[in-house]
Amino acid sequence: MEQVNRLEMDSEWNLAILRNASDGNHLLDCEGRILEVSESFCTLLGCSREELMGKHVSQWYALSPHPQAMQEGMGNRLETNDRSAYETKCRRQDGTVIDIEVSSIQIHLGGRAVLLNSSRDVTKRKATERSLRQQIELTESVFNAIPDLMFELDLNGTYINLWAHDPMLLARQKEALLGKTVGEVLPEQAAKAVMSALSEANIQGKSKGQTICLDLAHGRCWFELSTSKMSMSQDQNPHLIMLSREITDRKLAEEKIQQLAYYDQLTGLPNRRLFRDRLEQDMKRVMRNKTSLALLYIDLDKFKEVNDSLGHDKGDTLLIEVSKRIRQHVRDTDTLARLGGDEFVILLPAFHETGNINRVVQDVLQSLEKPFYLGGGSVGHISGSIGIALYPQDAESVDDLLRYADQAMYAAKNSKASRFHYFTRSMQEAARNRMALTADLRHALEQNQFEVYFQPIVDAQSEKIVKAEALLRWHHPVQGTISPTLFIPLAEESGLILTIGEWVFEETLRNIAKWKKRTGKIVQVSVNTSSSQFMQAETHHWHDIYLQSGLPEHSITVEITESLLLLDSDRVTNQFHFFKEHGIELSIDDFGTGLSALSYLHRFDVDYLKIDKSFVQNMLTDASSTALTQAVIIMAHKLHMKTIAEGVETEIQRDLLKSFGCDYMQGFFYSKPLPSDAFEALIDGGICP
Ligand code: C2E
Ligand code: CA
Ligand code: CA
Repeated sequence: MEQVNRLEMDSEWNLAILRNASDGNHLLDCEGRILEVSESFCTLLGCSREELMGKHVSQWYALSPHPQAMQEGMGNRLETNDRSAYETKCRRQDGTVIDIEVSSIQIHLGGRAVLLNSSRDVTKRKATERSLRQQIELTESVFNAIPDLMFELDLNGTYINLWAHDPMLLARQKEALLGKTVGEVLPEQAAKAVMSALSEANIQGKSKGQTICLDLAHGRCWFELSTSKMSMSQDQNPHLIMLSREITDRKLAEEKIQQLAYYDQLTGLPNRRLFRDRLEQDMKRVMRNKTSLALLYIDLDKFKEVNDSLGHDKGDTLLIEVSKRIRQHVRDTDTLARLGGDEFVILLPAFHETGNINRVVQDVLQSLEKPFYLGGGSVGHISGSIGIALYPQDAESVDDLLRYADQAMYAAKNSKASRFHYFTRSMQEAARNRMALTADLRHALEQNQFEVYFQPIVDAQSEKIVKAEALLRWHHPVQGTISPTLFIPLAEESGLILTIGEWVFEETLRNIAKWKKRTGKIVQVSVNTSSSQFMQAETHHWHDIYLQSGLPEHSITVEITESLLLLDSDRVTNQFHFFKEHGIELSIDDFGTGLSALSYLHRFDVDYLKIDKSFVQNMLTDASSTALTQAVIIMAHKLHMKTIAEGVETEIQRDLLKSFGCDYMQGFFYSKPLPSDAFEALIDGGICP
């Protein structure tokens, strides 16, 4: 090559030398046509100089790219003055294909750029390379087929001989194993699997697919066995060859998949799918053994509030903690699963008496009532409600059993008496009604079926109406007027409470303005709220409605329950700040029935405590109710709060409350809740100061 390179000065001389060069040289123009060839190139292709001159290279490059692409490549080489080498195939005149190595360089000849190619026959070298590669591939596949361990055993499981690819995979030294039996060396489970593989191979000649698990020095390992019987003479005891391949990685991957499909990723508990599987299996067993099983459906109360106020991370922490607490009260044979959200189930297979169920139920409920410390100073307070359904007493199918336990759970949630409930047929009926009622509730607002009633609240001293409470009524087209105690929980569950609550607020403001206009009197009205109205509404629409109403300060009181204070969330606190800033007062409803954490009342600047009617009504029969009522009034005054007694029905109650210094009273003794016009007539009639 250098030989030719040097000879650019005189093209004629160059060409003469090129023709005689030994390296398969040929000159190409920029389109890939032959300008000159050496004799050795003619020999390489097996044709004469005349046959080649002026031809395009694509005619003999068997593996050459498309002529155009090749030409472009060539153009590039000419432009960049690039020296390059490549391998390709080339078709000789006689049709045989040879491997050639081409190196190319651009030179200038007679003032124009041309390409000088030098080609070498490398067919032999390529053939050697190919055969070597095949050998390597073959070796690799053989290598892959070699088992990690190979044993020769007799039918008793005695180690006759063994080979280990990696000695780490042997539980002991090779010498310590020879002559021993698998029963002496392996754990019981693994030894059983090996023995059954040996006897199967002895009968069928081959056996495959058994897996064993061993705890080795470097961790737990799984192996897959395949066993073959060795052909031996008749009078000899048969020997078997057992190949053992380590499959730990595969096994771990399978376990991971299993884990994802059947276990709840947060708590590690079985998920709904695995739970159903277990339930189905347990139902079959119960059928055979003629026993019973119990399904406990656990729902967390107030979890949503914790989640909304403290954030999902804390909510997750709480759920993990809940799963740990419940797990402490179930046996290994029971199944505890998380169905999703804040719903858990316990399956008690083959319980013997309901006493056992009650014990588990009580333990679980008690454990959930203790505070949950969630890190960073956050504390979650929740409780649980449990519904119980029995198989085969209550239901015949998995779906029914789950549904009935869910219905019983619902009954437990609504019952004041206890936090757990057994399923009964009437619950099924109730559940059906609930669903129908919720469906109706969705249209109640647009169809004008709601009405706000107002119940007077009187000043204890003057007994004049100074306030009122707004109480919602639903005039159902078929069922008549439905109590809010029935439909408010449905509205909360379905999320409808947000729009309904807003409507009540708006309607109340509208009525206050109306009475003011017609009678000249302003009555402060308290509006009931549900916790979810504080937690879910992003920006309170109330603010706008209130500001637009133009009503003076102290026209409105918002009634909340104690549980909302316990949430201690920024969102709630911000709402309270808005209330304070705009002269909206704060009442604690049903005081005494919840957790009654006094420190919270003080912190949140509460204006009124409403003493729950159960205390007021028990005053005459139950001394502790009397004492509590009196204590609440004294305490409220010390904390600069006023008290409103609810459910005052009799003169005696009124007199007692007055003597305790109660500030306001509300109850049938004064008036039932009234429609707006009837209430207006009362205040207009002078009963209002
Ligand atoms: P609450 O806030 O404790 O309201 C007082 C309940 O006691 C009302 O029941 C009222 O009619 C009743 N009541 C008043 N005086 C007496 C009495 O002397 N004796 C007896 N036995 N009962 C008396 P109501 O109207 O059925 O409302 C039930 C509950 O529904 C309310 O209890 C409140 O928690 C809820 N509620 C009512 N309206 C709304 C609303 O607009 N939004 C929300 N979130 N809840 C509401
Ligand atoms: Ca109330
Ligand atoms: Ca109340």
